[in-house]
Amino acid sequence: MPTSTVENYLKAIWSFQESLGRNELVSVGAVAEKLSVAPGTATTMMNQMKKQGLVVYVPRRGVRLNDEGARAALKVLRRHRLVETFLVEVMKLDWAEVHEDAEVLEHVVSDRLLDRMDEMLDHPTYDPHGAPIPGPDGQMVVDGAAVLADCGVGEYVVKSVCEDEPSFLQWLSGQRLLPGTRFLLTERDLQAGMLVLDVEGATELVRISLPSARFLRVVTA
Ligand SMILES: [Zn+2]
Repeated sequence: MPTSTVENYLKAIWSFQESLGRNELVSVGAVAEKLSVAPGTATTMMNQMKKQGLVVYVPRRGVRLNDEGARAALKVLRRHRLVETFLVEVMKLDWAEVHEDAEVLEHVVSDRLLDRMDEMLDHPTYDPHGAPIPGPDGQMVVDGAAVLADCGVGEYVVKSVCEDEPSFLQWLSGQRLLPGTRFLLTERDLQAGMLVLDVEGATELVRISLPSARFLRVVTA
């Protein structure tokens, strides 16, 4: 069974591959930066994980998960996202505050407890941030969402938020920009680096910077 450290590397590599594509190599430097470790530390770990049969590692070019690694990464993601859902739905914690706890619990919660959580939640397919929860055998819905920063003027629904910073999530709550919310993207002010949104149920227009708009994934309404 992978250690919690290995599990964090699995998740980090997975998240890069999600945007780059399954067969692309991810830079080990980028993985190191994401996990706040020295590049040498990450390189040592890549060699270990290669020996454990979890990754394809090509020195100086990068790393990707093999099938075994992808399966292991999806297991950790499942634990993380189910735990977050449990903390919000059952324990009534704020969606902005559950990520850090889930980061810890994902490595220690037993399969038995996890199955029980899944049952109590009636087998949810999305976590509180709108991210799909992989099933027990790793299958995951593909939601076809696009990055808000890349979208043109039009009507959309927030699908998911891929940022865990509590203050950003709280700001989103304040603007009512939550998964499931409908909004109109009325203007792309590229001079100011801002998007202007008319959010359903809000009294004032919301301005969101392009970097922040990279964290929101949306579908056409
Ligand atoms: Zn999280």
